[in-house]
Amino acid sequence: MNQIQSLTPTTDADRRNAKPWTVDEVAALFELPFNDLMFRAQQVHREHFDANAVQLSTLLSIKTGGCEEDCKYCPQSAHFDTGLKAEKLLPLEEVLEAARAAKSSGATRFCMGAAWRSPKERHLEVIGEMVRSVKAMGLETCLTAGMLGEGQAEQLAEAGLDYYNHNLDTSPEFYGQIITTRTYQDRLDTLDRVRNVGLKVCSGGIVGMGETRRQRAGLLVQLANLQPYPESVPINNLVQVEGTPLAGTAALDPFEFVRTIAVARIVMPRAMVRLSAGREEMPESLQAMCFLAGANSMFYGDKLLTTNNPQAEADRQLLARLGMRCDTEAGLSQKTEAKINLRAQAPAASDAKAGADNCQHCH
Ligand code: SF4
Repeated sequence: MNQIQSLTPTTDADRRNAKPWTVDEVAALFELPFNDLMFRAQQVHREHFDANAVQLSTLLSIKTGGCEEDCKYCPQSAHFDTGLKAEKLLPLEEVLEAARAAKSSGATRFCMGAAWRSPKERHLEVIGEMVRSVKAMGLETCLTAGMLGEGQAEQLAEAGLDYYNHNLDTSPEFYGQIITTRTYQDRLDTLDRVRNVGLKVCSGGIVGMGETRRQRAGLLVQLANLQPYPESVPINNLVQVEGTPLAGTAALDPFEFVRTIAVARIVMPRAMVRLSAGREEMPESLQAMCFLAGANSMFYGDKLLTTNNPQAEADRQLLARLGMRCDTEAGLSQKTEAKINLRAQAPAASDAKAGADNCQHCH
């Protein structure tokens, strides 16, 4: 093992950029010739991480559909008719069964998604129990459940939650064309609450929604200038769902998606950059290019909330073909007994019921 530890946890101090990025600077990175951009991203990636390690998360929808918000990409919004059936919060045992399956198929983090504008008190009690039980299995926990009000982040922290996901989605300039039922500042406020109680932050966005390149740069600037920037940054490629207003949007050039990953890696050198929604539509060669651009985390399992995700077995084969191994962010690479041998894993069978329906892009 070289001195660069695989997926070593970072401190808040590690994740502060010395000076804020400007949109012009980040837009200039996007403009670099592709090979130069990839080279720079690789340099940054290798400076901070083992470039052959990837962290795997499995995502389960614990409460599906019927959401009050109007995110124009989301099949779970009650504002759009996508044929998605709304469901209630899953019972504890069903969630634990999914977490056990996720663990046995190699995931190290179990993410739970609930389609709420914000959780109610009664929800938080049940979720607290889910978090405690999933953690007791030895999995990291992440929750996405909408905006958090006063005291709610504390409750989740007390339950032992590791990460809270709340995406910024896009740049402030483009945001109003995508969501009108909550403001950009609402999102930043939730991220503040999460950070202030010591929870780790998972926050990223979605590209391919019709935004300009400069607006993609604007999203990354917002994330990179958080003090500190998020531990985990999911980059989603829009999955167009019939019935949502964004169905029919012109598809993003795949190289532009790779560029977005590379720029995210450069401006947030120590973040886990996660290849998230949209992977099902990506050829394996494109996914490999994303790893080369600095992605070092991905959602894993047969489905990603509402939409299909490459099957776990196919993922294992892809990582094996690339000579990559999975690892936790806590540096499991150093504990050989805890390493997961991707080649030796049994097929995932049903895996986590990560396909219960939810928004594939989280909140
Ligand atoms: S992305 Fe989240 S908040 Fe927005 S409509 Fe979907 S479930 Fe609701």
